[in-house]
Amino acid sequence: MVADRSISTPISAPNATPRPLRMSHAQMYARLLASDAAYNGRFFTGVLTTGIYCLPSCKARKPKPENVRFFPTCEAARAAGLRPCRKCHPDDFARGADPVLEDVETLVAKVRANPAAFPDTRAIVRRSGFGPTRLFELVRQHFHTTPADVLVRARIASAKRRLLETGAGLLEIAEAAGFESPSVFHEHFRRLNGLTPSAYRELRDAGTFTLMLPAGYPLGYLRRALSRDVHSITERLEGNRYTGAVQLSTGHAILQLELSPAAVRVEIFQPSAASLTRGAKHASGAEAHAVVVGLLGLDQDAAAFGRLAKKLGLGRLVAGRPELRISQTPSVFDGLLWSIIGQQINFTFACQLKRRLIERSSRPLAPGLHAPPTPAAVAALAEADLLPLQFSRQKADYLLATSRLIADGKLHLERLQAMSATRAERTLLAIRGLGPWSVNYLMMRSLGFADCVPLGDTGVTSGLQSLLKLEERPDADATRRLMAIFSPSRSLATAHLWQLNQPVPSTPPMP
Ligand SMILES: [Zn+2]
Repeated sequence: MVADRSISTPISAPNATPRPLRMSHAQMYARLLASDAAYNGRFFTGVLTTGIYCLPSCKARKPKPENVRFFPTCEAARAAGLRPCRKCHPDDFARGADPVLEDVETLVAKVRANPAAFPDTRAIVRRSGFGPTRLFELVRQHFHTTPADVLVRARIASAKRRLLETGAGLLEIAEAAGFESPSVFHEHFRRLNGLTPSAYRELRDAGTFTLMLPAGYPLGYLRRALSRDVHSITERLEGNRYTGAVQLSTGHAILQLELSPAAVRVEIFQPSAASLTRGAKHASGAEAHAVVVGLLGLDQDAAAFGRLAKKLGLGRLVAGRPELRISQTPSVFDGLLWSIIGQQINFTFACQLKRRLIERSSRPLAPGLHAPPTPAAVAALAEADLLPLQFSRQKADYLLATSRLIADGKLHLERLQAMSATRAERTLLAIRGLGPWSVNYLMMRSLGFADCVPLGDTGVTSGLQSLLKLEERPDADATRRLMAIFSPSRSLATAHLWQLNQPVPSTPPMP
């Protein structure tokens, strides 16, 4: 949980006036040698011998340190007589333009809007204007997945909308979404959602549903993830019963999960003034389903990661838990709170701070169970409210500033999930208080991106040291290099590294 201080330096807000360079020449030169894209926009690299300026991530040949000057903006580099590099296009980056990324984003948006127009991945390649190898690489880099996976998920999302909003038959829905047969539709639907299309349709007015778990699902590790925050007052795990308070579009709800090896039964309760009412209000069943699929990590491709680890000769990384998933936070805001509160402090203290924040900013829904705080409620606090709770001045400042961006409509958390990973990362990195560790943590724990590494995370570095029998803990650059072998599944690699030297979790007796 602890981030390396050197990589979580604050970043200014988007569209801020050029900020002073707070890094030393040696620090910036090290980022240049590492081609560190996380520093793009934070400084520009001028090479006096060639007369060209670049982004820190530029893959062009590395200049000697004495020939490099750093600039806070493109304008400053041009004023010194330098020209923009034609490989990394620093001016496009500074303007926020990135033509290749925009092409890939437009293509994925078209697939998502009308998946039936793409009978297979060859059709996606044809419409892309890129060759197949280049397109696969771009989708991996910017969406952390493959074109085939983008297509399947787009078809499933389209089918889910029709299941909820129309009375159409299953065959018709499968066809309209572009599936070649009802059996393929069923198979993918069950794999990604834990239930059948008909059961999903029943969520429209059900207060309860059951999700099937894949064979070998590591329930012990899920229980560990769900009970990790011992100070939590928004969720609790007692035996095999998990209770969590969530915010749905219809208001607060309490989800109760009965965990068993093959299935998870979920009940939705709506808190009213006096008591809890069993059952869902209209439309909240599908939202509750999405939260639980995330908690269980059902839509993650654990099997593919297991195969990759074994192919790399690193079977020890997944031993005893080949089906491990990343339990997603119940909401993106919840993950954002963690990623700011958890910076540079130990986990137990982070749990205590979070509890104090929740007690200060939300109300109880049931005995011992608080509603999760809303961005507006946190934004309404002042620094003077947080300092007595033992928040540092800086942490209080970041927390309040970020919550205000959301409350004021300047940051849309729900839009981040639909963005490309590259766009989501850039959007988040531009927020003051969110460094590379926080951003990658949030992207893997709350946005579901598959290829993230929270660089500087001590669990990752000590896991790598042990897995690869290294003499010392890898630094950020070595971590980046070593983790590259797990692409495009570095989020799951991170989850396994976190568990590598932990004891095997115990399992309570099943009823
Ligand atoms: Zn360049």
